[in-house]
Amino acid sequence: MSIGKHIICVECDFPVTLITPPEGNKASCPRCKLTLTANHRNARSRVIAFSLTALIFLFLSLSFPFLTFSAHGNDRIVTLFQSVSVMMQGDFTILAVLIFIFTIALPGLFLLITLYVYISLGRSSPWTGSQQLLIIMDHIRHWNMAEIYLISILVSFIKIITIADIELGLSFLTYVLFILSMTMSLVNFDKHQTWQWLKEKKGAIDQQLSEHHQQHTCHQCSHLSKANDTHCTFCGTQLHGHFTNSIQKTMALLLTSIILYIPANLLPIMHTYVLGDDTASTIVGGIILLWSHGSYPIAIIIFIASVVVPIGKIIALLWLCYNVHYKSQLSPLSKTFLYRATELAGRWSMVDVFVVAILVALIQLGNITAIHPGFGAIAFTGTVILTMLAAMSFNPKLIWKHVPQGQFE
Ligand SMILES: [Zn+2]
Ligand SMILES: [Zn+2]
Repeated sequence: MSIGKHIICVECDFPVTLITPPEGNKASCPRCKLTLTANHRNARSRVIAFSLTALIFLFLSLSFPFLTFSAHGNDRIVTLFQSVSVMMQGDFTILAVLIFIFTIALPGLFLLITLYVYISLGRSSPWTGSQQLLIIMDHIRHWNMAEIYLISILVSFIKIITIADIELGLSFLTYVLFILSMTMSLVNFDKHQTWQWLKEKKGAIDQQLSEHHQQHTCHQCSHLSKANDTHCTFCGTQLHGHFTNSIQKTMALLLTSIILYIPANLLPIMHTYVLGDDTASTIVGGIILLWSHGSYPIAIIIFIASVVVPIGKIIALLWLCYNVHYKSQLSPLSKTFLYRATELAGRWSMVDVFVVAILVALIQLGNITAIHPGFGAIAFTGTVILTMLAAMSFNPKLIWKHVPQGQFE
């Protein structure tokens, strides 16, 4: 990596001379505190080793029994694939497909791309498509929800432990190991460092920072482009400085998610059939029921994931849009932290939908007792996806746009 490289911070537009930090350290933006790059020890070989291990464990997870559910003298053995695909019928096919994509397909694809790009970086000339794949990796990173699925399985266990015996299969262990290996791969992955390696291999020449600061930096590869460039001259990504309709897009997505949050709460998320009797439960109804049964920790987890996070996220993004629209200069740093928190927390709202999917997969004892998904689960998934898209379309640079260069918080 070159020493003393000029970049413009992708979140606050502050010009920074970036010096490669020593091994085991990171460099942050002095203004918005964004981690610009982290230099992990043996990063390249660690990312390759952990990604390969994670892929092997994911493959093994699909090969053996995942869970065994026993109640009323019936045993039901479920594989990982069945645990997400059991709803693949009728109106709920879309939900089953989405859960499969979030918990198995995208994590697998993410790991395959990581391996391709990182092995390619070890060659004298990287394989074709490495640049495009690195951009795809960044897009699918947000939709990788494997660890949320694991937490949902544990929540489901606590919900049904009093009515049935649950036995963990070999695939459950390998799924846990897959998530641990993938997390280690992500910990050692640094976006800026990876792009730098690729640029060096491709012989890209960096532009110098002009005095008038009329340039844009690419939010993917941090390559500097001229003021009138609409796309990055190295990787072709549309430059964030040109996202003029960011607020309108965020607002449109937010309003749609608010509308969808109404049926998500009014319609049942789940139906429980016991000897032919149907008991429908909504998100809030389910939380109240858990609380009244004394399952306080689970009630709190579901309440935070399904009520606090989505509502908090919608309010936070509306407030950020309002501030940007009125060109507020007040505490930009706190607003940036709020924006980052909304981006991080959003995915966790999927816990309740995953719990429903797991219960549907496990509890299928014919006429005795069975659980089916409700339309509230589809509406709620729509709300979560829309709020995630709203956070992604918000351009964090707008928070700092009208703040003087010398103001740091
Ligand atoms: Zn910054
Ligand atoms: Zn670029």
